[in-house]
Amino acid sequence: MLAGIYAVLGISALVAAYFGVGIAVRVWSQNRSAKLRGSGVLAITYDDGPSPELTNKILDLLKEFDAKATFFVIGRDAEAHPTVIERIAAEGHTVGWHSMTHLNQWKTSPLRAWRDTTRVPPILTSGSTRAKVYRPPYGKLNLLTVLAFLKLRLSSVHWTLVSGDTYPEVPDVDDVVKALDNAGGGIILMHDMKRSGPDAEERNRFVLGLTRSILELRRQRGWKLASATDV
Ligand SMILES: [Zn+2]
Repeated sequence: MLAGIYAVLGISALVAAYFGVGIAVRVWSQNRSAKLRGSGVLAITYDDGPSPELTNKILDLLKEFDAKATFFVIGRDAEAHPTVIERIAAEGHTVGWHSMTHLNQWKTSPLRAWRDTTRVPPILTSGSTRAKVYRPPYGKLNLLTVLAFLKLRLSSVHWTLVSGDTYPEVPDVDDVVKALDNAGGGIILMHDMKRSGPDAEERNRFVLGLTRSILELRRQRGWKLASATDV
């Protein structure tokens, strides 16, 4: 009987540690990011790419404004499109690590979570295209993913404002820009993956339109642009 109680308590403690550490690090990361609000510092970030078409269009736009951003890339897509990764790095942007296949760390086994975070393809481990910062898929962390990004010697960065480009209803660009302006800076999250479906073009246009609008806002406000490695 007593052994059974100890076993239940032990398993509960393990489960609490597994998820609890991840939640604690996420809260810490979000609080750290939140300090950018009102600071006049803006970090522009794109997740889930690269995709040859959209990522290259974003890079053209950033070049037009002489602006730098951070791209949290998926390993599988980085391997498929190395020239886009090379362009991101060559033009002075930051390459970030966003896992090999974008598994939700709360919905997969510990072993798969560990492997998906630590299996970094060679293009992202050395040279100018080395990933310098980590963002967990869906913002979800567990004990093993925390240990994994520490093993990779990366810090984990969340965001302060979601663009809404993956929401069922894409918001108005003006509303997102207004929210960013009211916040006075922060870390904005957009996505540059290859989209499918009937509204893919509309969503890509939203990302490009929002990027242009926030770059214009940043210019008007005189905000400083930061890499995700600096926040
Ligand atoms: Zn993602």
